[in-house]
Amino acid sequence: MKSLYGKFVFSSFLVLVAGILLSYLVVNTIYHRDMKVDNDEKHVHIAEEMVSFIESTDGLDLERYLRTQAEAGYILYVSDQEDRGSFYGGPFKENSLPEGTVRSVLDGHVYHGMRDLPAETFWAGYFANDVANTVGVPFTYHDRPYALFIRPDIGLLFNELHWLTAIMFILIAAIGFIAVLYTAKKLIRPLTELTEATNQVAQERFSFFPDIRRNDEIGQLSDSFRRMVRKLEENDRARKAFISDVSHDLQSPLLNIKGYAELLGNPELPEGQRREYSEIVRDEAVRLSDLARQLLLLTSIDQITDLAEFEPLDIAAQLREVIRKYRWAFEAKEIYVSLELDEAVYPGDRELLEKVWENLLSNAVKYTPDGGEVSVRLRTAAEALTVTVEDNGPGVGPEDAQRVFDRFYRTDEARTREGGTGLGLSIVKEVVMLHGGSVKVDQGQSGGARFTVSLPCRHNQPAKR
Ligand code: ADP
Repeated sequence: MKSLYGKFVFSSFLVLVAGILLSYLVVNTIYHRDMKVDNDEKHVHIAEEMVSFIESTDGLDLERYLRTQAEAGYILYVSDQEDRGSFYGGPFKENSLPEGTVRSVLDGHVYHGMRDLPAETFWAGYFANDVANTVGVPFTYHDRPYALFIRPDIGLLFNELHWLTAIMFILIAAIGFIAVLYTAKKLIRPLTELTEATNQVAQERFSFFPDIRRNDEIGQLSDSFRRMVRKLEENDRARKAFISDVSHDLQSPLLNIKGYAELLGNPELPEGQRREYSEIVRDEAVRLSDLARQLLLLTSIDQITDLAEFEPLDIAAQLREVIRKYRWAFEAKEIYVSLELDEAVYPGDRELLEKVWENLLSNAVKYTPDGGEVSVRLRTAAEALTVTVEDNGPGVGPEDAQRVFDRFYRTDEARTREGGTGLGLSIVKEVVMLHGGSVKVDQGQSGGARFTVSLPCRHNQPAKR
């Protein structure tokens, strides 16, 4: 039985049967432990009432009286001292009494067969229609001693009730079973639908999704599944867009290199143009190599899910070092750099954070006009460390402020410039998020771009990407 449906139905059926058996055992045990003594006493009392009637009624027709009692719902056995016995009502299933019982009753003792019935687990005590399961009392009739044994005739007393009870049990079992079949189907159907949806997703078909609206755990599973599928769909779309962007961004420098290389092959090309074309080929090669380097870096960042071990870093020293590296570029454009750096030791990934500062500062160089200004600030507070890189270039408009961190996104203004891949800021964002921090861009005081990186001081949990 492999299906969940089959298992559910089978186990419910087992539970039903086990429940019936167990209830039977419990009821039987209760009878043997608590009820049979009372039952015995009650019937001894009834037997004594009968005997007292027999003994006090002159001219009583004993045969007729006992037959009347049998019709009223009792099974009776009467024995005289010669061991001649007669049965009334019944019949008894077992006709033998324990050895010496009749003699003992004739001698005046009361027989407590109901009370002394052995307490066997599968023995339905109350229902056993045996002579041994009776009570016996002595009486005298026409000066002769007799022993009278009685018990209620279960067959007669419970005949209709028996059937009603049996029908009730069969109905409970049947209705229960049908209900189990129905519930199992209802419970398991959404799982089957979810399995089908999983198969569709495995084939990259994201549009098919079963409409499961429930408030239980299956509903929650379906909601999580729906969210997961949406995310997968988004990732799939992003992946396809990424591949198409990468192909495009690889294609154009390669075409340029090919075109200018062909032009360079012309021996009659004037010297000035030759130099110009060689520079273009070199710039395009540099762009290609930057692109490859940044793509590699992004891919390796994508594979990091958690920065398990952080190294305590002197961020101020790291920023000074990066600025020193770009000094020639700042000097070439006569850009004035101002620094305000708090001392801060921050646990982070040295190489990745270096890439963050490099990208922000190289952008500042790139987008700041000659003779412009760039200011770098590092502030520490109890909850976060903040690095701000501000320039007085064209700035980033509010409509581009979110998108500049997307892969390959470049503003129209930037597109007209040479160089640039549109990957630098997405690397910044990925690294900062990996450290549990955030990055934003807005307008600085001089109207240029102001990039603010916040790194939380307690950042054991990197932000979800
Ligand atoms: P790029 O290689 O084009 O600089 P980035 O990812 O580093 O790629 O930047 C994405 C875009 O954000 C840039 O193309 C540019 O439009 C804008 N940008 C980045 N830094 C600045 C800045 N300091 N001033 C103005 N615009 C900027």
